[in-house]
Amino acid sequence: MHDRLAEAYGPQHWWPAKTPLEVILGAYLTQNTAWKAVERSLQNLRDAGAITLEGLRAVPLAKLRRLIQPSGFFTRKAPALKAFVAMLDAEFDGSLETLAAAPTLALRKRLLDLPGVGPETADAILLYALGHSVPVADEYLRRIAERHGLIAIEPGRRISYDALTALTRAAFAADPAQGRARLFNEFHALTVAVGKAHCGRTARCEGCPLASDLRKAGRAS
Ligand code: SF4
Repeated sequence: MHDRLAEAYGPQHWWPAKTPLEVILGAYLTQNTAWKAVERSLQNLRDAGAITLEGLRAVPLAKLRRLIQPSGFFTRKAPALKAFVAMLDAEFDGSLETLAAAPTLALRKRLLDLPGVGPETADAILLYALGHSVPVADEYLRRIAERHGLIAIEPGRRISYDALTALTRAAFAADPAQGRARLFNEFHALTVAVGKAHCGRTARCEGCPLASDLRKAGRAS
């Protein structure tokens, strides 16, 4: 699937943000929100000088809430961002480089303990901001896996996040370890691309780069 999507869509150049901190901000802000809205919040933060660690430390919580209002859920997301910076300062010398140097499993667990950080946000931060080799799954991949019958589940059950990342790890297990982060990076971006173009709430399989896989799996309608 990766190869077929890569051939159809080309390199995705993710993440769509400029610095590791912007990636982290984006990972928080994009929860339950379209990226366009995130861009407006990031621009507000930029204009207010709050898109650096220093700026985030200095900005009062009420102002941070106002700045990120365009991306929604700001009463929850603003304190979550402050909690991230507080953790960074208290445990990692206020340095994203020190944070990135921590072992992957321990770091993932620490991120998951933070308010407002679920598995998808934690893995997006690990992969796209901190360069760790972890797969990221989302609703688009869940739909694809379900529609193509990639993971057996009981009727009425949903495929879990962990099952999706385990499937992705298994799919790339034979590739050289040093290139796997790039493959995880690209594969997630590509599944988002095909999800947006074809595999939303309703599948639009005609013209989809993965339609031949669906036919092979005997699942084409
Ligand atoms: S072929 Fe259909 S089900 Fe498969 S990814 Fe494309 S739109 Fe989704």
